[in-house]
Amino acid sequence: MSKIRIYELAKELEVTNKELISVLMEEFGVEAKNHMSVIDEEDADLIKELYEEQKKEAAEKKEIIEEYESKINEDISKQQRKNSKMRKGGNKRNEEKVDETPDEVIEMEETIVVKDLADKLKKPVVEVIRALIFQGVMASVNQEIDFNTAEKLVDSFGSIAVLKEQNVGDIAKEQEDEIDEIEDEASEAKETKRPPIVTVMGHVDHGKTSLLDAIKKSKVTATEAGGITQHIGAYTVDVNGERITFLDTPGHEAFTSMRARGAQVTDIVILVVAADDGIMPQTVEAINHCKAAEVPMIIAINKMDKESANPDRVKQELTEYGLVSEDWGGDTICVPVSAHTKEGLDNLLEMITINAEMLELKADANRRAKGTVIEAKLDKGRGPVASILVQNGTLKSGDSIIVGTTYGRIRAMIDDKGKTTKAAGPSMPVEILGLSEVPAAGDRFTVVRDEKTARIMAESRKEKIRQDHFQTSNRVSMENLYNQIQEGKVKELSVIVKADVQGSAEAVKQSIEKLSTDNVKVRVIHGAVGAITETDVSLAYASNAIIIGFNVRPDNNAITVAERDNVEIKTYRIIYDALDDIKSAMIGMLEPEYKEVITGRCEARQVYKISNVGTIAGCYVLNGKITRNCKVRVLRDGIVITESTLASLKRFKDDVKEAAAGYECGLSIEKFNDIKEGDIIEGYIMEEIKPKQL
Ligand code: GDP
Repeated sequence: MSKIRIYELAKELEVTNKELISVLMEEFGVEAKNHMSVIDEEDADLIKELYEEQKKEAAEKKEIIEEYESKINEDISKQQRKNSKMRKGGNKRNEEKVDETPDEVIEMEETIVVKDLADKLKKPVVEVIRALIFQGVMASVNQEIDFNTAEKLVDSFGSIAVLKEQNVGDIAKEQEDEIDEIEDEASEAKETKRPPIVTVMGHVDHGKTSLLDAIKKSKVTATEAGGITQHIGAYTVDVNGERITFLDTPGHEAFTSMRARGAQVTDIVILVVAADDGIMPQTVEAINHCKAAEVPMIIAINKMDKESANPDRVKQELTEYGLVSEDWGGDTICVPVSAHTKEGLDNLLEMITINAEMLELKADANRRAKGTVIEAKLDKGRGPVASILVQNGTLKSGDSIIVGTTYGRIRAMIDDKGKTTKAAGPSMPVEILGLSEVPAAGDRFTVVRDEKTARIMAESRKEKIRQDHFQTSNRVSMENLYNQIQEGKVKELSVIVKADVQGSAEAVKQSIEKLSTDNVKVRVIHGAVGAITETDVSLAYASNAIIIGFNVRPDNNAITVAERDNVEIKTYRIIYDALDDIKSAMIGMLEPEYKEVITGRCEARQVYKISNVGTIAGCYVLNGKITRNCKVRVLRDGIVITESTLASLKRFKDDVKEAAAGYECGLSIEKFNDIKEGDIIEGYIMEEIKPKQL
């Protein structure tokens, strides 16, 4: 990560080095020694954001004050006009205002009577009372106000309030001391060793999941075993007193972006290659990602228990990508393992710790935390839930954080063993509750001073994104995309991605954006988890986007509105199909052979489990009809749980060909017994359509 020196940043922000050093401490708990100290560019960016916000706030305040002052001046001149005899005095008053000396020090006790304060300020009492009202304090002439209120008021008049027992010199001294203290602490502050964060990559079916599971099972003590079923996107294991954090990334290898995202937080990659299969396309992809991110790799040659295992072939193939195994004179560590027999696992873990040692991974546990979101979802009972990885500092329950464009105060933290915890140090994964919205996987988080700061920053980030979208949207649709490109009307295809889990949304988003060519930019303007809703459709309508659903479906309202507004919704179960379609649309070759026609939807109202038969659902047909030969998909909260065919369709005891809207029916689904009350069963048929003429 690139760094920046304090004095450079101070210069850019037009503040003193000392001020910046104390702000750094206050905002992030980051201890900087002097103007030559370096800080992460990411922290610098956040500080800049903060200053921008403060400037904006100050400008707004100034505007209000100016308005208020001009009103007062108006009142004064009215008064002058009313009573010409008083003209002289009025003028004098006005002159006093102009002469106002800022930075005047007003000494006072813990409390002060409004009238006395006005005297000290050399302001008319009315003006002081008005200013107090403006501050939200109703006070009469003889009322006492406390120091805090008075301080704010004095400040708004451009002067400084100090408590009587202190004098200005003391205050300056106090500030000096504070900075000295920071500097002292800084010299003491030491970054300490942190556990490595490891991501497992490799071709599909080479055993990534099995390997992660095997490590989890072999290294987690019995007492923790209950909790570790808890999936929070990452887990830590203890290897002879050294901790290792594994990212439990979703296993879909098409998600190259997941890897890229993984690499951002990853210190070491375990590249799994099946000993019987060798290097495959996604292995190569993983190698390239690691190289680009300069993340060291350890090769786990898996499935060594298989007879057909040929580790030498794997090593041979690796050389083609510049990876020469250590035993062949190179510096690539290759560890033969078997996720099934657990052979070589200890060796692999040892290699990780040795590698980590060499990387000298360090973090400062005392600063305020920052890190990355690994996964996030909306939980019905608990609200937005995010699994995050602390990368520096210590995250504490009650901390206020900004995460991407959302924010919150941490209500609860749950560790990877399912236990509630109060603090999470460097490299620790935790699940957090208390965010205002669901963040996106890969979003960075930072702890800030208070919730208000977090909220303001989140809002201003959102506003920025909104403006960016607004400026660049162009109306397009998938069907006419090619023509529009040819006519030069379109330079951009905007897409909204909705998916069943955050990881997929993020991955689909990035894969889609990679389809951009020199002629057409493909841009995902919104990517989120959940069913396609009316809101998505209106966003698509407003920004001329198409909607892509990945393992999710539109709800009824969305369908109606989309039809009305001619918004295109495409749903897919396989990422490649989505990518292919978009690619074809871009080159004008979109030729769907089949079109899906939804026949109707019904809702499961009662579920019966019958031995030897399976699950029968008593349903009510909401719209259209359900036919015996239709295909069905089961939707739970708009998410596709399964796709199958009907195994039976009955009305009362009789088999029927179809059940129409408004009627009840009983049905069972081929190879699916997990129907729950409230599930929606959508019936559809695939209608053949003629290929389009080019
Ligand atoms: P992933 O797609 O890379 O996550 O691969 P999985 O972990 O799902 O494994 C794919 C298949 O390989 C599964 O059928 C596993 O049982 C099998 N497998 C994984 N590791 C081993 C191993 O060490 N030995 C053998 N014989 N099979 C394995």
